[in-house]
Amino acid sequence: SPVIGVLALQGDVREHLAALEAAGAATVSVRRPEELAAVDGLVLPGGESTTISKLAIAFGLMEPLRERVGAGLPVYGSCAGMIMLADKILDPRSGQETIGGIDMIVRRNAFGRQNESFEAALDVDGVDGGPVEGIFIRAPWVESVGAKAQVLARYGEHAVAVRQGALLATSFHPELTGDHRVHRLFTEMVRAAA
Ligand code: GLN
Repeated sequence: SPVIGVLALQGDVREHLAALEAAGAATVSVRRPEELAAVDGLVLPGGESTTISKLAIAFGLMEPLRERVGAGLPVYGSCAGMIMLADKILDPRSGQETIGGIDMIVRRNAFGRQNESFEAALDVDGVDGGPVEGIFIRAPWVESVGAKAQVLARYGEHAVAVRQGALLATSFHPELTGDHRVHRLFTEMVRAAA
């Protein structure tokens, strides 16, 4: 069965490993280019995108990540991971880079300090069985998507789940809810690509 890595530089790595295993995937933590080379799919966890960006550069992972994304590796990013998959950030911190791959512009910390954390029931295209409970923690929203990216869910006016080919991104954190349908969707995307 395909092996799905979780980028383990910073963020909620263990929660994603557990959710993927509950969804039936074999998993591994990824910190080094050799580990990245061995996976069939990759999750970019929630956390702090500026830190993940700096560590990815320091660990020599940024270029290998871009190469594998460019070659069609299935990747799912939640929250900070969504930011890492965006072709453009509206308000990057200095030195902050993304891997890119999804033709979208995201705004970091978009939901504002008053609402740093909240939950909302979301209908997500491709996820059957009723709404997904979305946990938003200083979450980004998607300011705009290009023609190749498909919006899977919105909260109010803003896209909060996007797919482009083998790349999937959510503003929210399904790894924190015990509902593994989003991880199952991604595991199926990895199987389909393998
Ligand atoms: N605000 C964080 C960032 O900009 C994301 C928060 C999260 O992943 N929960 O990276």
